[in-house]
Amino acid sequence: MTTYSLMSGSKKFNTTETFSVINPSTLAPVGECPKATVDDLHTMIAESRKAFESWSAIPYAERQAYINQIADALEKHSEELASIITQEQGKPIGASLGSMFEMGGAVAWTRYTASLELPVKVLQDDENGHIELHRRPIGVVASITPWNWPVMIAIWHIIPAILAGNTVICKPSPYTPLSTLRMIEIMNGILPQGVVSSISGGDELGAAISDHPGIDKIVFTGSTETGKKVMSSSAKSLKNLTLELGGNDAGIVLGDCNPDEIAPGLFWGAFINNGQTCAAMKRLYVHRSIYKEVCDSLTAFSKSVKMGDGFADGAELGPIQNKMQFNIVNQLVKSSIEQGGNVLLGGPLDSEDTLFFPITLVAVENNDNALVQNEQFGPALPIIPFDTVEEAIKLANDSSAGLGGSVWSNDKEAAAKIAEQMECGTVWLNKHGAIQPNAPFGGVKSSGLGVEFGEEGLLANTTIQCIFS
Ligand code: NAD
Repeated sequence: MTTYSLMSGSKKFNTTETFSVINPSTLAPVGECPKATVDDLHTMIAESRKAFESWSAIPYAERQAYINQIADALEKHSEELASIITQEQGKPIGASLGSMFEMGGAVAWTRYTASLELPVKVLQDDENGHIELHRRPIGVVASITPWNWPVMIAIWHIIPAILAGNTVICKPSPYTPLSTLRMIEIMNGILPQGVVSSISGGDELGAAISDHPGIDKIVFTGSTETGKKVMSSSAKSLKNLTLELGGNDAGIVLGDCNPDEIAPGLFWGAFINNGQTCAAMKRLYVHRSIYKEVCDSLTAFSKSVKMGDGFADGAELGPIQNKMQFNIVNQLVKSSIEQGGNVLLGGPLDSEDTLFFPITLVAVENNDNALVQNEQFGPALPIIPFDTVEEAIKLANDSSAGLGGSVWSNDKEAAAKIAEQMECGTVWLNKHGAIQPNAPFGGVKSSGLGVEFGEEGLLANTTIQCIFS
């Protein structure tokens, strides 16, 4: 079993305490992770502030070159990192949407982001004066990440931040810290001292980061509940924030769809990474005229997907990553049944000795059902019938969340009209959850503040300075 190290100022940083990280497939320990203290955090922030002085001063093109080298290094280490992801997170290594896919995404996002420019904009240039808009880095950025896509989400935070000239301290989830720590170790083989540091430990470190005046921006991905705490404690030093929070995405299937044709897309839209994805489809609304057929097709397709240990041949889905999340999913399915939900496939478990939860489909009539109203973040999908498009839009918008949504129809115009009325940051037509490095991604309502990706995501790591001459 490997013991991992933190990186601070390009040096390995050893802590006196460690904690074990568990493989959710086998429940055996994967490795020992450093448990940093709040004092360690103070040391790192001081080093990160020092590194900011020189990193922010180097030419933008040099930072782009460093980031392209990081992309090369991540590509070279893809199998090693994917193996750690599978061991600690559970997603299968060889699956089409598994840990090698996560590494492919991490490399693609790094390369694309490196190609973005931050030009000076001339706002006015006439006899009355010359005004330029410059983009400046913010300072020390803290990245706080969840346990579902540990490497890819850390890349989304770190790369645009350092490209813009900031330095970063990344705190991974205590459930899946090891792949992130190793990735940051690899980055430090390339970057100057102190540009990217890692700190791991319990949730209290996240709280200390939010509270610390030496952090200038936080980019946080996690639950809405924790995001509100981050926002509240960040107010003391008025930190810049990007918050990517929980989702409860609705999919709307119109009556003109062919159920067999859309079943694979619906399935992977909902069950990518076992449903443990912010922008997975978490509620499915189907026109009553094809409701039974869609339920049947989805059930048949679900039965064809293999779940198992991430290193087993043919496994497409792994376990739920941790017991806390397993209990949430299990309890929501039980509550859904008590409230009238009819299980079409899978169902709740009473066993305490596994994190594998069966793919579960529940036919639900009432939008107030617990599995509809709460984010399950796991492999259980409620399917709800509707009679009119107006009703479907109303039901889909009946949520405090507003991350993504989808419309499924052969009538592109009708689908696009519905998309415009959905209260969420992204809408997909005839697919769900596809994200790209060039398309800004973020939530409305309780799903967050600000966006990541693309030019807008890069600009979120800068402040504006206007120069009048
Ligand atoms: P979580 O909120 O429990 O934890 C996220 C991170 O916050 C972890 O690193 C944790 O240690 C840290 N943390 C805990 N308490 C903290 C505090 N008081 N202050 C600061 N940091 C603290 O979330 P999770 O269970 O790891 O992830 C699942 C949630 O993340 C789901 O709701 C999911 O929808 C959401 N998510 C959103 C996106 C998105 O882009 N919108 C992406 C992935 C996951």
